[in-house]
Amino acid sequence: MTRELSKDYLDQLVADVHALAADDPNVWGAPASYIPELAHIDPAQFAISVALEDGMILSAGDCDVPFSIQSISKVFTLSIALGRVGDTLWRRVGREPSGNPFDSVMKLEQEKGKPRNPFINAGAIVTTDALLSGHAPKEALSEIIHFVRAAAEDDDIHINKTVAASEKATGYRNLALAHYLRSYGNLDNEPDFTLGVYYHQCAIEMTTVQLARAGRFLASLNDVPKLIAPAKVRSLNALMMTCGQYDGSGEFAFRVGLPSKSGVGGGLLVIVPHRGSIAIWSPGLDSHGNSLMGTYAAERLSRDLGWGVF
Ligand code: GLU
Repeated sequence: MTRELSKDYLDQLVADVHALAADDPNVWGAPASYIPELAHIDPAQFAISVALEDGMILSAGDCDVPFSIQSISKVFTLSIALGRVGDTLWRRVGREPSGNPFDSVMKLEQEKGKPRNPFINAGAIVTTDALLSGHAPKEALSEIIHFVRAAAEDDDIHINKTVAASEKATGYRNLALAHYLRSYGNLDNEPDFTLGVYYHQCAIEMTTVQLARAGRFLASLNDVPKLIAPAKVRSLNALMMTCGQYDGSGEFAFRVGLPSKSGVGGGLLVIVPHRGSIAIWSPGLDSHGNSLMGTYAAERLSRDLGWGVF
C-alpha cells in the first residue's frame, strides 16, 4: 500500500535509520578518506528534505548541517555548460554509463581521451573546462555559485576553501586525468586552472533544505526559476538515471527507480519528475562512493510513496 508524504513519515524514516545503526554501527559506512578534510566527518548523521510542487519543504534529521556537495555540483556545471556551448559539448564527452569507478583512467585511454559521460570525474573536468574557456577561473566559479544560489533562491551558499585545498593537496588522480585529457587535446585550459575551478565547485556546501530547493528546476515544477530549457531538463534527468551513481548506477536505478546524483560528501539529489526534488545526506559511503544510508532511504521513500518513474 502506498503511503502519503508527511513530516511524520520523514521523522519515522530518520528514526528507522538510527535504529538500524543502533543494532549495527557499520550500516553508516565510512566517509571518503581520500579527501583529508572529509575523512574526519562523523558518519552517524542523516538528513532528508523534500521540496514539493506547492512550494512546501518537508525535512527531518540533520537538515541544518551544511555538507560538501562534491559531485552533485556536476549537475549544476553541466546545466550551465549545456546552456553555454549547447550540443557541441557532446563532441568532447559521451553519454554512456562507464561501469568503472568515478576516478578511473582506464576507458579514457581505450576511447582516446573522450570521457564516457559528464558525471565521472574525467567528463566533469571537461565540462568545467568548457565553462572556463574565455573566462578567468574566478569568473567561472562565480558563475557556478550564482547558478546554485539562483536555483536554491538562497544567497547563503558558500564554498569551503579548506575542503578545496585539501582535495587539491591529494588530488593526484584528478591531476592525472586532466593531463591525460590535455594530451588528447580534450582540455583547452591548463590542468591546474581547470582543476582549481573543479575542486572549488566540489567544495560548495549546502544543507539538504538548500539542495532540495536547488533541484526543483530539474523536476520541472511550476513557479521555480527556469534555469535551463525543457529539452535540457530531459537530458539531465536521463544522464542522472543512467550515470548518476558511477558504477553503482544500474543498482541504484533498480532499487530506487529515480534519476539521482551522488557525491562523495554523502549527499544525494533525487529528482521526482513533476512532483518534487529530494536531498538526502549521510556521509558514510558504500564501495562505489555513494551514501549508504542515503541510498537506503531513497529506496524506501520511492517504494513507500510509489514515486519511482517505472
Ligand atoms: N571532488 C571529488 C573528486 O573529484 C568528487 C567525486 C565525487 O563526489 O564522487 O574525487
